[in-house]
Amino acid sequence: MSSRCFVCGKRLAVIDGWCAEDWNAQHELVKLPARLEVTICSRCDRAKISGKWQVWNAQAFLRSKAKVFGRLDRFDVNRQNEKFTVLASGLVERGKKLKTEKHTVLINFNCVVCPDCSRALGGYYEAVLQLRGDISENVIKYFEREAAKISAVDARAFYSVKDVKEGFDVRIGSASAASKLARLLKEKYGAELKKSYKLVGRKSGKDIYRMFISVRFRQRFK
Ligand SMILES: [Zn+2]
Ligand SMILES: [Zn+2]
Repeated sequence: MSSRCFVCGKRLAVIDGWCAEDWNAQHELVKLPARLEVTICSRCDRAKISGKWQVWNAQAFLRSKAKVFGRLDRFDVNRQNEKFTVLASGLVERGKKLKTEKHTVLINFNCVVCPDCSRALGGYYEAVLQLRGDISENVIKYFEREAAKISAVDARAFYSVKDVKEGFDVRIGSASAASKLARLLKEKYGAELKKSYKLVGRKSGKDIYRMFISVRFRQRFK
């Protein structure tokens, strides 16, 4: 003889005297805080998460804050201003039936300007690419495409281009991005590179240097 659930008295007891429904009602699949704080950059929209500035992803963030008891199959997030609704489904521990839970989390966004953006806004730059010689349209197009690719993934690789008598000066926020772009121009167009450093100041007892890379394109036709 099968016994009935001691809670509802109607359905079959399948887990220690509980029916599957009442077991689910009694056990949580996901625990989430009701309120969270996130520091976000108003310029690049990245968020500071565990001390690192990264692309804001509400789903990944809330998932990282969720404690899961059992097996999680789905974790969907919907946003309405500051209100985030999470629909979670799966099996609670020892559960016999899928459970779906709805959670609401209020996220308070603390808007700031991240250090990378404040450098860019302050006109700071680590390196200058000096494009010189015979610079064709193709070179410019290629350069702009590659520079845009790098700055899309590296917030410090912002750049600005200045027309000068001898060619173009490109100021770049990151020295490593500048080196990479110079290397690409050398590989693709055989440009000659010359690197130098200039002392631009001192900060907390250390000399600050700015890197200059002269990128020279030879005459195409002679
Ligand atoms: Zn029951
Ligand atoms: Zn930023």
